[in-house]
Amino acid sequence: MKKHNFNPGPAILPDYTYEKSIEAIKDFNNSGLSILSISHRSKDFDAVMDKAVTTTKQLLDIPEGYSVIFLGGGATTQFFTIPYNFLGKKAAYLDTGTWALGGIKEAKLYGEVDVVASSKDKNYSYIPRNYTIPTDADYFEICSNNTIEGTEILEDYDSPVPLIADMSSDIFSRPVDVSKYVMIFGGAQKNFAPAGVTIVIIKDSFLDHVVRPVPTMCDYKVHIEKNSMKNTPPVFPIYAALMTMEWIVDSGGVKEMEKRAIARSDKVYAEIERNKLFAPNVSDPADRSRMNITFNLLPEYKELEGAFVDFTKERGLVGIKGHRSVGGFRASCYNALPMESVDALIAAMKDFEKKI
Ligand code: PMP
Repeated sequence: MKKHNFNPGPAILPDYTYEKSIEAIKDFNNSGLSILSISHRSKDFDAVMDKAVTTTKQLLDIPEGYSVIFLGGGATTQFFTIPYNFLGKKAAYLDTGTWALGGIKEAKLYGEVDVVASSKDKNYSYIPRNYTIPTDADYFEICSNNTIEGTEILEDYDSPVPLIADMSSDIFSRPVDVSKYVMIFGGAQKNFAPAGVTIVIIKDSFLDHVVRPVPTMCDYKVHIEKNSMKNTPPVFPIYAALMTMEWIVDSGGVKEMEKRAIARSDKVYAEIERNKLFAPNVSDPADRSRMNITFNLLPEYKELEGAFVDFTKERGLVGIKGHRSVGGFRASCYNALPMESVDALIAAMKDFEKKI
């Protein structure tokens, strides 16, 4: 049976990435060796790393004065590495859910944390607006796409202090004005790579703001100087990341990814709204994630939750069950998800409605 992969991460990648990865695992660049078994210091891998950096810069139109590095440790490692480097006295954070809180918790280890606003009062089902960012904060950190709750910040904020964004689950899904940020980071295992690599885009001048001596592996300057090879980098995930980036370039870039994301999510939200059984988790369309579409059964149909998950599974739809912390359903629609999968989900929603 054909599977439709709505997994929240690790998640669907383009067939191009799978095919090129298989080739490289068998024989990388006609070297007679597998990508899994070559030195990260080889000329061939150097070229992969360089191309991954330049393609990231190309895709996001990154201005001069920024560096791109590929690290291990996941986005979660960035949650403490950022305050370790940059939180002297106080940092500002926007509390939009589980992953934003991940950063907040770690920052508290290093200084004062001003949570400028929170959407906790409504189970993180909206993006807070109209708050004040303290001008004496060392930086302001946001999570642009809340993978679990299904909200997304779709604009590049003007911040009076250096702006940092966790873009783990929406990077490369829309054009971004990188100049508005001093740092963008993300685990790659949603929109562009298998698990194991974390992308960090950082404004070089922000590195003058490091507030304490940092251990080598937390030192962005070291990673930049060593071209992400201070130690052994995640070689294969970086290769696969590059393949996905090439696929994005060939498909028309992040503008095209955005067009597709809008088309997919508009269709799914429209069906959620139309269907008598379901309601969106996020009521304001302006706050709805294009990547992680969260929805619920209306209270009168709540007991059908398990039945709907089973119904989708029987049709080859994978990953529709919502995160255990929020329940309900979540359809993750990352860059590589074909419209055919969206249509299969919508058909399942319609057919389930007919059965009731
Ligand atoms: N931030 C966001 C927005 C995420 O979705 C995730 C993973 N689900 C993380 C951070 C944590 O990423 P990692 O597992 O790479 O540490």
